[in-house]
Amino acid sequence: MVGSAVVRRLVTENVGEILVAPRDKVDLTRQSQVEDWVAAVRPDVVMLAAARVGGIAANAARPVDFLHDNLMIEANIMAASAAAKVSKLLFLGSSCIYPKFADQPIVEEALLTGALEPTNQWYAVAKIAGIKLAEAYREQYGLDFISAMPTNLYGPGDNYDLESSHVIPALLRKAVAARDAGDANLMVWGTGTPRREFMHVDDLADALVFVLKNYSAAQHINVGSGSDVTIAELAATVADVVGFKGGLTFDTSRPDGTPRKLMDGSKLAAMGWSPRIGLREGLADAYAHLQRDVAARSGAARA
Ligand code: GDP
Repeated sequence: MVGSAVVRRLVTENVGEILVAPRDKVDLTRQSQVEDWVAAVRPDVVMLAAARVGGIAANAARPVDFLHDNLMIEANIMAASAAAKVSKLLFLGSSCIYPKFADQPIVEEALLTGALEPTNQWYAVAKIAGIKLAEAYREQYGLDFISAMPTNLYGPGDNYDLESSHVIPALLRKAVAARDAGDANLMVWGTGTPRREFMHVDDLADALVFVLKNYSAAQHINVGSGSDVTIAELAATVADVVGFKGGLTFDTSRPDGTPRKLMDGSKLAAMGWSPRIGLREGLADAYAHLQRDVAARSGAARA
């Protein structure tokens, strides 16, 4: 999702050739494959967006995948990029790196000041290691490695598998199914009270290009939308976007996760960047892409 959005954004810039590491040719968790690929293509700049990602249930079900795969991906790419003497590398983390009870909105300095939210600690520990590794390359080898921390993302290319996805793709799919089945209620995991900050992936891609051009420092930088909503408010907006007229029910046997993770984006704002896509507009875009994907799949199935 993020890589494709970055490519869509980069084609509008005069950046020369855009190289992507194809999944079927390079397994980013395998050191030798990454070394060989980077040595062959010799990038000038690296955007490290690849990661093993998933929602609250996927993290609980596959802790090794989230910790091990992300450690391998970031260690392999940074080592190969350093060997290739790239002029810049941008590593992507996540807002879940911050302590569970960090003061809100969360400033960059909150990193490592408290205990993590247990439901996504595996992913968070890997991402914290990645931030520190980028910082270490900067310190030991003087390389321009930087890190950006995006908030919860959604948009075209998202994972729509109900057990492993994040909340927005799950609710979009469930609201469509509930609408089509004429159900009275849409089932939402947890209590509906946790707050989350969401950003459309096209806004993130725009921010990342801005950060690449304008930022060079050891400290990571937050990339957020600036406001958050409760999961119940999100579900009501999703229902409205897809035209589901029923009510909401809450499955409290499912975890809530962290109560709130709104990031402080003032550092990036002070540099002159701000997001453009509001939540409702962004959800409508994600829904349009989902409809197109479903139509393309059923067309392919008929053919
Ligand atoms: P998190 O931000 O790491 O907690 O990841 P998620 O996007 O998976 O979940 C965000 C919040 O949405 C949590 O409080 C979930 O319990 C809640 N949620 C409500 N319905 C769903 C659903 O159908 N799928 C997912 N993944 N989360 C849901």
